[in-house]
Amino acid sequence: MAPVRGSPVPDAVLGDVPSRTRREVAAHAAAAADLPALDAQVADCFACPRLVAWRERVAGERRAAFREQSYWGRPVPGFGAADAPIAILGLAPAAHGGNRTGRIFTGDRSGDVLFAALHRAGLANQPTSVAADDGLALRHTRIFAAVRCAPPDNKPLPVERDTCAPWLHREVSLIRPTLKVVVALGAFAWAAWWPAMAAVYGVKPPVPRPAFAHGAQVGVPGAPDLLGCYHVSQQNTFTGRLTPAMLDDIFTSAKRRAGLA
Ligand code: SF4
Repeated sequence: MAPVRGSPVPDAVLGDVPSRTRREVAAHAAAAADLPALDAQVADCFACPRLVAWRERVAGERRAAFREQSYWGRPVPGFGAADAPIAILGLAPAAHGGNRTGRIFTGDRSGDVLFAALHRAGLANQPTSVAADDGLALRHTRIFAAVRCAPPDNKPLPVERDTCAPWLHREVSLIRPTLKVVVALGAFAWAAWWPAMAAVYGVKPPVPRPAFAHGAQVGVPGAPDLLGCYHVSQQNTFTGRLTPAMLDDIFTSAKRRAGLA
């Protein structure tokens, strides 16, 4: 594996062979023997031309407040404990958050809200997440996104979601021995869980498929429990649609289902 030159991510590595097609994503995901290998392969993916162009354009233009910084400008791997009983599934990295810092939910307002809640729940060692080398560590928890590249307007296309799915499925597969509960942040992540569940656990989603709602809870025999949570976007947190107390309730429930409370 080769180091990433000029990356904001310390010790970042890339996969041995870049993934440039949907077929290569599936093959490289399946071949990743552990989370470090998977993370490296994810970071070296170029399979979605529209998203590759967008992530690199954002990294090149940069927001004025970050003009002096070097953007990551690549896919953003998962982050957190390798033996996590709790997984948090998001939509995709933010253009000036994860796409800048190289760590999911890091360096943006959504992350401020999420990690403060995780810290209150005892699942993070600090309440802030500002850079990949800020010392943040998660306990019992891993965070990843359904789509690993920042999309324009935070809206991946269905073909991009499907192309990226093998990264998610392999990550779930690698933490399967300990995974007990998945918190889906928003309807997109909620929908992305069903094919992941089928691919990794070999169980079919309930029919009719349960609709996303904040606080929705679904237990499927043979698979982790699924909890719905409004996304921690500014659109929800600034308007009061999602409050800190609501997040605390979600993580209390997640910990209970994970056997941690
Ligand atoms: S969205 Fe996923 S599959 Fe597409 S380029 Fe990014 S990492 Fe690769």
